Amino acid sequence: MAGAKSVDLHVHSCFSDGRLSPGDIVQRAARNNVVAIAVTDHDTLRGADEKIAACAGTGVECVIGIELSCEYKGREAHLLSLFADPSSEWVARLEDMRLARERRMDEMLERLGRLGVGVERSDLAAAGLVYGRPHLARALVEKGVVKNVGEAFARYLYDDGPVHVAKRRFAFAEGVDLAKKLGGVAVIAHPGVSGLLDELDEMLRLGADGIEAYNPKHSGETAARLFRFAKEKGALISGGSDFHAPGETADIGSQRVPVDVLEPIRDLAATRK
Ligand code: AMP
Ligand code: FE
Ligand code: FE
Ligand code: ZN
Repeated sequence: MAGAKSVDLHVHSCFSDGRLSPGDIVQRAARNNVVAIAVTDHDTLRGADEKIAACAGTGVECVIGIELSCEYKGREAHLLSLFADPSSEWVARLEDMRLARERRMDEMLERLGRLGVGVERSDLAAAGLVYGRPHLARALVEKGVVKNVGEAFARYLYDDGPVHVAKRRFAFAEGVDLAKKLGGVAVIAHPGVSGLLDELDEMLRLGADGIEAYNPKHSGETAARLFRFAKEKGALISGGSDFHAPGETADIGSQRVPVDVLEPIRDLAATRK
């Protein structure tokens, strides 16, 4: 993936449901000519020191971020906080989410057990203990129950399926408030995936700062529509790969997000410190 330099402002690591360590992520970014990554683990700012250290001296800038699990009108709405401050007192608010995800994982393991599939917590790789369904999917692959993560979701883990347990989520307005209290810029992640394209105006009015237009799950048409919309509303534009693991998701840098997307986000974040 040569060509112009780009940024990738939506990447997951092993501190939530990504598979790679910060070091491996940075290597991949550098190889793909990505000059800045935002590591945006689900509901956690854990591992910030390691993420920053992994970038040091590599020519890849590390933006600390987080992807908050929120809910808007009954739908799952993901909200990024870019340039969040891991030393903020508001980080304490995230601990409830982590514990709720632990309890939820135990419940999903129990449900799997009732279907005759035995997986234990000790079978799961979850360095940061912020458990998500991908951890379970990978364990099912390792045990030979399914061939790949896609099959694990299709057979067992899909939304509202026999194993899925609803996740604890912030109300969207509460999420926006927290994203900003953490010192970050609040960006609505992949609205085209969340089925929230028609709600974006309201969501911006609730205080979101920007919209993730570049995302591998957005069609060209959706991305173009989001650009136009953001420009019209004076909202910031962001983008990233939503990388989780090689072979599972689009690669780091796959979206070729222009470098100049980053500066306005950085400038706004600076006003929140
Ligand atoms: P959870 O946060 O535990 O509800 O799990 C949702 C996460 O699972 C998302 O953030 C994605 O990383 C991943 N995911 C959801 N659907 C699929 C799928 N069909 N195949 C692979 N990964 C998926
Ligand atoms: Fe994820
Ligand atoms: Fe997401
Ligand atoms: Zn994500």
